[in-house]
Amino acid sequence: MRLVFLGVRCSGKGTCASRLALELGVPHISTGEIFRSNVAKNTELGRKIEQVFNNGKFLSDDLVLEVVEERLKEQDCKDGFILDGFPRTVKQAIEFDKMEKIDSAIYMDVEDEIVMQRLTSRVVCKNCGEVYNTELMKPENEGICNKCGCDLHQKADDLPEAAKRRIEEDKKNLKPLTEYYKDKGILRIIRCEKADLDVDILNQRIKDAIKWKEHL
Ligand SMILES: [Zn+2]
Repeated sequence: MRLVFLGVRCSGKGTCASRLALELGVPHISTGEIFRSNVAKNTELGRKIEQVFNNGKFLSDDLVLEVVEERLKEQDCKDGFILDGFPRTVKQAIEFDKMEKIDSAIYMDVEDEIVMQRLTSRVVCKNCGEVYNTELMKPENEGICNKCGCDLHQKADDLPEAAKRRIEEDKKNLKPLTEYYKDKGILRIIRCEKADLDVDILNQRIKDAIKWKEHL
């Protein structure tokens, strides 16, 4: 089973994708994680990525495709994979179609309000960077980091105005991609209408949508 997961930030796609991957016995490949770990390990790729980000630019389609292609060559991908965070552009999607045949593109369609709430309830430790959520993952003492005892604050990006802008931006970027997969007839829209909807329920919806039993 070869799947791509699409959705705005905080749509919960990473959580669903990793759980589903376990069930299907295929790797959950998050391009964001690959990038971050390369930066952390200071590899050649990591240095390239850092340079691009430091200039406030986006990674080129070619570079992203190269990273994905390399990862999919690994043994664990022989029976399929779930991609999370890729493709981001129609050009990437078109080029990727020349490499692999995707079974379904899953679009996590979450109410704006829910995403807003998730984004704006995030607080970060000023000192160690640990992330909390004032709704779901509260620190033991309000405003204080469990790990190091320093003050927690809200990042400027997570303030309501900025959060709203980021969500709109994500949606605008996703539109051509979902259109692309819709035209191919493989787009599956998974609605998430409640903030506390269980991952198992969402995953059941995904499995129904991709008719996974027929693939067993
Ligand atoms: Zn801390």
